[in-house]
Amino acid sequence: MPSAPDHPLPAVAARFAHATRVAMPVAQELFDTIAAATGDGVGMAREPYGANEQKASDLLEAKARQLSLEVTRDPFGNLYMTLPGADRQAPGWITGSHIDSVPSGGNFDGLAGVVAGLTAVATLQAAGLVPPNDLTVMGVRAEEASAWYAGAHGGHIGSRAALGILPPGELDSAINSRSGRSLREHMTEAGFSPDRVQQDHGTIDLARYRGWLELHIEQGPVLERLGLPVGVVTAIRGSSRARSCRCTGAYTHSGAVPHEYRSDAVLATVELVHRLEAEAARVRASGGDLTYTVGKLFTDAGLHSITKVPGQVDFCLEYRSQERPVLDHMTGWARSQAERIGAERRVTFDLGTFSVQEPATMDPGFREALSLGAAALDIPAMDIASGAGHDAQDFVHAGLPAAMIFVRNANGSHNADEAMDLADFELGTRLLAWMVAGQPR
Ligand SMILES: [Zn+2]
Repeated sequence: MPSAPDHPLPAVAARFAHATRVAMPVAQELFDTIAAATGDGVGMAREPYGANEQKASDLLEAKARQLSLEVTRDPFGNLYMTLPGADRQAPGWITGSHIDSVPSGGNFDGLAGVVAGLTAVATLQAAGLVPPNDLTVMGVRAEEASAWYAGAHGGHIGSRAALGILPPGELDSAINSRSGRSLREHMTEAGFSPDRVQQDHGTIDLARYRGWLELHIEQGPVLERLGLPVGVVTAIRGSSRARSCRCTGAYTHSGAVPHEYRSDAVLATVELVHRLEAEAARVRASGGDLTYTVGKLFTDAGLHSITKVPGQVDFCLEYRSQERPVLDHMTGWARSQAERIGAERRVTFDLGTFSVQEPATMDPGFREALSLGAAALDIPAMDIASGAGHDAQDFVHAGLPAAMIFVRNANGSHNADEAMDLADFELGTRLLAWMVAGQPR
């Protein structure tokens, strides 16, 4: 729990503190009713284009109508709830996040951002403030499609479809892990129009917006460990991934063959993995932002045995960084070290192709405004990188500047035990409301 400030708040801070407090029942009711309607017995199960995602969307829409917002949907089921501003012609803010969840997920991943948007609207209404321009709250569909759909696709279906950066072929190559049917079929069955998905032509008119703001729970432990309720996101890390790397050596007798004649795929791969770890540590020590993960590493248990020198290892490599040059450096380093170790140890590495997802840098002006706002509202906050992907990156990639507010959350995310304190959510939402109100001082 954040402690109460030990000095009297200036007038603006006091006004927003009071108005957010008055608005919080909106958040409490939405979190409670949506959780009760969309569980799977373990956690939340708001499957993209499934019945529970629609129920959550309907409950949000009903609340938006109670708040007298203008409500529309696009052909992909995304929900837009707009509070008219003083000047309806000039571009306004669009805020929100995704409505869906992973299977047996938590209640706050995604949903917190949509609820924060509606609670910010209620905050402005409680404070008697009309935003300078329209404020639109967006409930995005199918951000978590990767958790439900196998096959070649990049997730984030709702936002990318609306922004015109979703290749339509992904709707056919994404196959539902339970039904075996395509995303296109599920989207159609849910009453929406996958045929309207066009690359280079979105349904959102970006000229109507000055930027995207997304409040989201932090899905790592940093804010909790450092004792801060709110983070201002610097960038969403991009990634460089080699999904199917192979080291090929030679199967031989483990007793009869001396080491100098072996081509041991396990020892060669382990050396590569350690050399890459050492280089990643060096990059971080010199100020670079980097995570390095070997998510899979296996021999063929049917072919290998205790009496065999192992002849093959399969593995994958993932780097994430806010900085594209760091990703490029590590990708090149992996290739050069694989070649060296291959020659030294008489094995062959095939790392395959690295697929690169560009980092999404948050807008420096928006970030500065949020940091100033946190100080003005007496909300303890820090700068923080996002290791996880979010809808915000799709807006950045489509050309709209964006910013994100993280809220402290315990027990990680993508599980049923996510635990965001509503007192922390209130602080994050207060900052969001201040931002969309035009940053009053
Ligand atoms: Zn999320």
